Amino acid sequence: MSTVQLETIDHQIGGRATHGASTRTAPVYDPATGHEQRRVLLGEAEDVDAAVQAAKAAFESWSDTSVTRRARVMFAFRELIVQHTDELARIISAEHGKTFDDAKGEVIRGMEVVEFACGVAELTKGEFSDQVSTDVDLHSFRQPLGVCAGITPFNFPIMVPLWMHPMAIATGNTFVLKPSERDPSVSNFIADLYKQAGLPDGVFNVVHGDKVAVDALLDHPDVAAISFVGSTPIAKYIHERASAAGKRVQALGGAKNHAIVMPDADLDFAANHLTAAGFGSAGQRCMAISVAVAVGDAADELVEKLRAKAVAIKVGPGLEPDSEMGPVVTGAARDRIVDYIGRGEGDVVVDGRELDIEGEGFWVGPTLIDNVTTDMSVYTDEIFGPVLGVVRVDTLDEAIDLINRNTYANGVAIFTASGQAARTFQRKIQVGMIGVNVPIPVPMAFYSFGGWKQSLFGDHHIHGPEGIKFYTRAKVVTTRWPESLDAAHMHFPTAT
Ligand code: NAD
Repeated sequence: MSTVQLETIDHQIGGRATHGASTRTAPVYDPATGHEQRRVLLGEAEDVDAAVQAAKAAFESWSDTSVTRRARVMFAFRELIVQHTDELARIISAEHGKTFDDAKGEVIRGMEVVEFACGVAELTKGEFSDQVSTDVDLHSFRQPLGVCAGITPFNFPIMVPLWMHPMAIATGNTFVLKPSERDPSVSNFIADLYKQAGLPDGVFNVVHGDKVAVDALLDHPDVAAISFVGSTPIAKYIHERASAAGKRVQALGGAKNHAIVMPDADLDFAANHLTAAGFGSAGQRCMAISVAVAVGDAADELVEKLRAKAVAIKVGPGLEPDSEMGPVVTGAARDRIVDYIGRGEGDVVVDGRELDIEGEGFWVGPTLIDNVTTDMSVYTDEIFGPVLGVVRVDTLDEAIDLINRNTYANGVAIFTASGQAARTFQRKIQVGMIGVNVPIPVPMAFYSFGGWKQSLFGDHHIHGPEGIKFYTRAKVVTTRWPESLDAAHMHFPTAT
C-alpha cells in the first residue's frame, strides 16, 4: 500500500515560508468528503518568537513610513483582493465547507475593511488648539503600538483576520496572525498578496498553530496588543491572560442571537430571512440567528413557513454551484450538533440527522425545533450548527426580557411593521448589534463590530473608528516658543 505525502502548510515569517522549530502538525480536512487534504504546522514558542522578532525589526521603519505610503500599500492590497476574489473564495470553501458564493461574500465584507483602512490619513488626523494660554498651543496625535497579534476562528478564515490586520498595519503597527488550524491556507495567500502589494517583509507574519502558539503570543513581552475572535471560554481566557501580561486586548466571544417576530410582521419575509440567517454557512456564523422568538399569534404560521423552507434547502458540497448549504467544519462539530438534536428537548419539526447524502462528509441538515424553553441546553448553549429553535412568548416585553436575561449579546433582530415596537426594542435591548427587519446586522466597515456581555471582553469593538483607537495611542503636546525668558511660578499652572 502506498502512502500519499500530503502538502504541509508552512508559517510565513519575515516574508518567507518556513517550518521553523515546528514538528507537530494537524489535519486539514475537506469537510465535503471528510478526507484529510493537507496538514498544517503547529507552531512552537520558538516560532512565535521568530515571528515577533521579525515584526519588531520591521516596526521601526514601517512606523516611520509616511501615512500616504502606508495607505498606498492598502490601495494595492485591495486591488489584489479584487483580482483574486474567486481564488480566495475557492480556498475558503475547500477547507471550511461553506458555499462558494458565501465565501465570496466573506471576501468582499473583509475587503471593505481594507477600503476603510485606505483612509488612514484622514482617520488618524490629530487635533490642534491655538493659544490655550498666552503663547501656548496644544495638539494631540496618535501613534502605533508596536507588534500586534491576531488570533482568529475557523468560521470566517479571511474576513475576521481582515477585521484586524489592515487596521493595525495601516496605522503603522506590524502584525503576527495565528489563524484557525482548521482552515489555514487562505492566510498564507493573504501574506503573498501583501508582498505583491509592496508591504515590507516582517510587517505581516503568519504563525499556524494551536494553544501552544496562542499562549506564546499572550505571554510574549514584545507583543503590545492582542485581538481575538472565537468562542466565549477562550475569549475570556485570552482577555485575562493577555491583560495580566500588560497588553491591550479586544476579545470577541460566542453568540446566541435571537430574532423577535411580531404578529404584525410580514411572515413570508421574516421566514425567508430567518432561514438564510439560521442555516446559511450551516449556522456557523457568529451573527447566525439560532433562536426565533415568536410573539403571540405569529408562532404557528411562522413555524409552518420555516419548516417548508428548511426542508427545501439544497445541501451539498460548497463548490457545487447549486448548493445552498455545505457541511459543517469537522466530524467533531457534526457529532456535537447531532448530540444536541437528539437530546429530546422541544419538538423537533425538521431533523437534520435525517439528511440523506452520500459519502463521509461532515453533514448535518437544517434542523428546526419548536417549543424551546429557556431551561433547555439547545437554548442556553451555542450549538454553532444549522439548528434554529423557536421560543413562544405572548408580548414584546416578554421577548425583550428573555433576550436580556441571556448571557450572550452579540446580535439581535426584530421583524415588525411597527416603528414604535422597533424603537422600544432598540432602546431596551441589551445587545451590541441590532437589526430591524435585518436578520444579520453586521455593521459596515466604517462602523465598529462588537457585542456586549459574554460576547466581548475588553473595551474596544473591532474595526471602524474603534479599531483605529485600539491600534493607536494618543499623545498630547503643550508647546510654547517664548520670545523672552519669563519667570516660572511655583503654583499649579492655569491659563493666562
Ligand atoms: P475557538 O475559540 O475554538 O478558536 C478560536 C481561536 O482560538 C483559534 O485560533 C484556536 O486555535 C484558538 N484556541 C482554541 N482553543 C484554545 C485554547 N484552549 N487556548 C488558546 N487558544 C485556543 O473558536 P472556533 O471554533 O474556531 O470558532 C467558532 C467560535 O467563534 C464561535 O463561538 C463563534 O461564535 C465565535 N465567533 C465570534 C465572532 C464574534 O464576532 N463575536 C466572530 C466569529 C466567530
